[in-house]
Amino acid sequence: MGEFELIRRYFAAAPCAQGGDGVVRGIGDDCALLAVPAGEQLAVSTDTLVSGVHFPESCDAFLLGQRALAVSASDLAAMGATPLAFTLALTLPSASETWLSEFAQGLQLMAQNCSLALVGGDTTRGSLSLTLTVFGRVPAGQALLRSGARVGDLLCVGGELGDAAGALPLVLGQREATADISEALLARYWSPQPQLALGQALRGRATAALDISDGLLADCGHIAHCSQVALQIELERIPLSAALRAFASEDQARLCALGGGDDYRLAFTLPPALLPELQGDWPEVRVIGRVLAGSGVQLLDASGQLIDPPRGGYQHF
Ligand code: ADP
Ligand code: MG
Repeated sequence: MGEFELIRRYFAAAPCAQGGDGVVRGIGDDCALLAVPAGEQLAVSTDTLVSGVHFPESCDAFLLGQRALAVSASDLAAMGATPLAFTLALTLPSASETWLSEFAQGLQLMAQNCSLALVGGDTTRGSLSLTLTVFGRVPAGQALLRSGARVGDLLCVGGELGDAAGALPLVLGQREATADISEALLARYWSPQPQLALGQALRGRATAALDISDGLLADCGHIAHCSQVALQIELERIPLSAALRAFASEDQARLCALGGGDDYRLAFTLPPALLPELQGDWPEVRVIGRVLAGSGVQLLDASGQLIDPPRGGYQHF
């Protein structure tokens, strides 16, 4: 199978490569052409995943395709952007038809989930790595930045945290769990659901936002730095799933939430008056703290005492 046959069979022929809203020209020319409506801006983000660094070498191709696109689409969610299209630069050691077919199916599923059209890419030979670039559109001036948090805002997250980090010992085959626990945790690792609808709902409401990819502490640090404020997190208010609580001790579960970044939930700051309406539509949204004058991220324990953030992030228990 030559390069062009490979591209045609697994990518150009995929349902997600047949165009979509805003796709003027997809795969097959020197560039794809995207239309952005007047008054809107293009949001663009690129992520590279390298075998052995970002995912295990032996990893299931379907799950990899699904996860790679989810991780990229999450950046669009974090900006409040409406998904438009993506490109895929694929470096492969060999053209295994089984691998390609499974990978393309995982990619297709997530593309459909996120309403993202595959509009181009590149295919080369080498150690396995993937670079995905996603494109979205957002009304001019309304993208959710990291820099708008204001003193008095609430600090919120888009749902339970820590499951994907909790799943790592299962992903790496270092620990076992009962079927219901391991299914719940592994699903959160392998098919994170980018919070695209929530991101769009936060336009005009949230003052700052990002998707949690480096762990709650590190990512809140980014908002604090960009907004020149301090963020205070109340440890007890961090939402944890039943599966994670059953798999790990309370302390370990919290460490997963604070230091594990693979959940791809949104974290955002919100004027308090806007919370009831938002939680009416999005009951999974939780307040975990607030914005104060100052700098950096502070942690409060159950009794309201300031505690030191854990050093070195979470550990594989
Ligand atoms: P060029 O030589 O102009 O870079 P290529 O021969 O690399 O074009 O690719 C031909 C067409 O196939 C282009 O439209 C390109 O965007 C697309 N393409 C190549 N690899 C992939 C891929 N892995 N997934 C999707 N589209 C791809
Ligand atoms: Mg090329």
